[in-house]
Parts: sequence; structure tokens; C-alpha cells
Amino acid sequence: MHKYRLISKKGEGTFSEVLKAQSIKSGRYVAIKCMKNHFDSLETVNNLREIQALRRLSPHPHIVKLNEVLYDEPTGRLALVFELMDMNAYEMIRGRRHYLTEPKVKLMMYQLIKALDHMHRNGIFHRDIKPENILLVDDQLKLADFGSCRGVYSKQPYTEYISTRWYRAPECLLTDGYYSYKMDLWGTGCVWFEILSLFPLFPGTNELDQIEKIHNILGTPPKDLLDKFQRHASHMDFNFPPKEGSGIARLIPHVSHDCQDLILRLLAYNPEERLSARQALKSAYLRDLREAEKQESQQDRSARNPEDTEGRQDEMSDRNEKLEERESALPSINKKGDTMEKGPEEAGDDGDKLPPIANNPAGAKPKQPLPKPKMYKSQQFKTLSHGFTTGMSTGAGIVGMPPPAGGSKFGYASMTNFSTTSGAANADKASFALKKKYVSPYTSKKR
Ligand code: ADP
Ligand code: MG
Repeated sequence: MHKYRLISKKGEGTFSEVLKAQSIKSGRYVAIKCMKNHFDSLETVNNLREIQALRRLSPHPHIVKLNEVLYDEPTGRLALVFELMDMNAYEMIRGRRHYLTEPKVKLMMYQLIKALDHMHRNGIFHRDIKPENILLVDDQLKLADFGSCRGVYSKQPYTEYISTRWYRAPECLLTDGYYSYKMDLWGTGCVWFEILSLFPLFPGTNELDQIEKIHNILGTPPKDLLDKFQRHASHMDFNFPPKEGSGIARLIPHVSHDCQDLILRLLAYNPEERLSARQALKSAYLRDLREAEKQESQQDRSARNPEDTEGRQDEMSDRNEKLEERESALPSINKKGDTMEKGPEEAGDDGDKLPPIANNPAGAKPKQPLPKPKMYKSQQFKTLSHGFTTGMSTGAGIVGMPPPAGGSKFGYASMTNFSTTSGAANADKASFALKKKYVSPYTSKKR
């Protein structure tokens, strides 16, 4: 079945190559994320956090939409088909010489925080908030790349290497995996600053330099906070000479004080004091956008059902209260004996759990550990379109979203462009090697 015609390469990440394609049947344009790893069973694919998270979080106006999942069981190749977006936020600022207006950036960041709020309330945190994972089409922003996400209630410490260095929160840099959903808000503060200033806030060249860059601007934190992190850090002794930070105001003087203030509250060193997405949405700075949105949805509802004003208002306030309750149920990061307490990972319980999802009664946890990934090395793009339009594997199935009715199987356009490399490099190392080159108009430094 010739499902998609490939058009061009759209992007590349650590784990995938993303292609622009067109559905042969509907003519609709899509983005196909071809995973570099391959997967040895449908169950493994179904248990992938990225797929689970997208299923749980969709639909949402600010979460990228997954249309379908293509899996070719015989070869283990996997591709995720998404709605097509224009560009990522890094591409939007790369090479720009003029600032974006503050209201435009504010609208973007409001949408990002809405996505985070939705995600955190659904028990998932992203762990890789950065400009490349934020997608845009016109004025609409959608969060993408859920490949690093975890369940908010999963067991600490998190042992795998995560989150691009420049956007990594202090608790991620300074502890052995004792961090939680608040790290996404730190990343948001960094991204917000970067989109306004057109240069990265903390472009650390290694982990230590990363910490130093944070201290240069925000100052060293109080000793008791460092002591607290130290209790969860076996790999280093903190001996940071106390210093005052230079602040962010002079780096973004063209931005209002209220905006600078909100960014700083997202960059609170202590995750306990850092704003949650919910709190950020309620901030005075974002109030106008929130009010406008509320009014709009009120009008929408009234248009749809003009009779039932009272019922709707009750319903809304009920719903809001429930949401508030759910937020207060998010785990506290500093509560002793709770999530900050260090403990060995239990065998067979690697904290991999995302909250169970309705159509997966077995829960999100893979029954067995993910297979050691074999990496695929992609060849020149021009060979790709050929492979996608002509190939088809008979034994292939699509892990649909929702699953295809009647358990029917769809053909999978095979990706003959991929060739296996045995003994492939591990993905963590690759993430360093593949770090993008950042060319800022203000500095000759490269990422
Ligand atoms: P990885 O997990 O490998 O980092 P991503 O999901 O972040 O992969 O995708 C890599 C890049 O591909 C993104 O930075 C973006 O530029 C592009 N991309 C991803 N999804 C889409 C999409 N739906 N529409 C347009 N471009 C996309
Ligand atoms: Mg990515």
C-alpha cells in the first residue's frame, strides 16, 4: 500500500529523522518521525513512553497530534505519523536580527505552559523542554518529542541521562536523579529568555560550566539548599564560592519588568519555590491571555447551547475545583521520606511507569526491559522517498491511535533507505555528539 509520498526532510533529532510526506489517499501533509532504533515486538512499541504519553495527552490544542503509528514487525522499524508543523522554535530564532515582540513571545509561552499544565495534571513530565522540541505553525505552538518523558509518580532516582544540558535544572545537575516535574518549568524559563533575547541563557560547555553559568546570572543558592542537594549527590562535593548573580534584566532590557519577573520565578533555583505550570498560568502577567481564553470558550459554549448558562457555569467551577485538587496531589519534591528520599531502584521496578491509560489495561510499564537498541544509520535523504512509496511489508501492523477497528492490519511503507549498523553507539553519547550548532547574532560561541 502506497500510503505516503515523501517530500523532504523536515528535521532530525537524537533518536529520529523527521520527514515531510503527503498522504496518497487524502492529500494531507504529515510529518513522519522515523525512529533510528528498532523494536522487536508490537508490545514493546505499545509500551514506548512516547506513544503512551501522546495517547494519554491527546487531544490537546498545544500537544502535537499523533495520527498513526507505523510498525514493521519483521524489520522492527518504527515510524510515527504526526500532523505537520512549520518549524521548531530554534529555527524561528536562528539567525534573527530583530527581536520578536513581547506579546508574540508571551502568547507562545502561554501556550507552552498550557501544554505543561495539561501534561503535569495527567501525571507526566517531559524532561526535554528546549526550543527544538517546541513546534510552531503561524501563531500556534505545540509541544513535541515525548521520548524522554516520565511519570510524575515514578520512582526516583532517575538513572538515565536526560535533558539537553543548557536547559537542565539545578536539581538535575546537582543530584543523582532526584528531580521531578518542576524541571520542565526551569526549561521553560530558559526557553522564554532565549526566544526574547535570541541567545541561550546558560550555554554551558560541560556540566560544571553549566552550573557556573547559572551561578553567574542567578547567584549561588543558600547553603541549606545546597546541603539538601548534597544529600542526594554522591558524585561531587559542592564547594561553590558564594557569588551574587548579574541578573537577567540587563540581558533583556527591552522586556517589561513583569515579564522578567515571571521568567525569574520559573528560574527559581529551589524547585520547591519554582512556579508550577498552574501557578504560572495564574500569574498577573498572563492574566489577560487567561481571561481572553476563558471568555472565548464561554462564548463558544453559549453559541453551541444558549439555554444552559447556569448548568454550564456550575459544571465549569466544579471542573476547576477538581483540577485544583489534582494539582495539589502532585508530589512535593522536598518532602522528607517522600520523593526526595534516596533509595535503590528495586529490581523489576525501574520507575518506568506512566499512569495507566484506558486502552492499555496492563498499565504503561513494559513487561520486560526494552531491548538493547540496534541503531540505524540513515543514508542520503534522496533514497528515502523511493523506499517509502514503493515498499510494503506483508507482516506489518500499525499500532493505531485508536487501534484499527477489527484488528485489521495495514501495510507499512518500508524504509529501504535505512541500513543497520551493528554495535551502534549508545543514544546518550549520541545526544552530545548531535548537539546542534547554535549561531547567535550576539556571540560567536557555538552550541
Ligand atoms: P527526537 O526525539 O529525535 O529529538 P523530535 O520529535 O524532537 O525527535 O523531532 C526532531 C525534529 O524534527 C524537531 O526538532 C523538529 O524540527 C522536527 N519535527 C518533529 N516533529 C515535527 C512535526 N510534527 N512537524 C514538523 N516538524 C517536526
Ligand atoms: Mg527532539
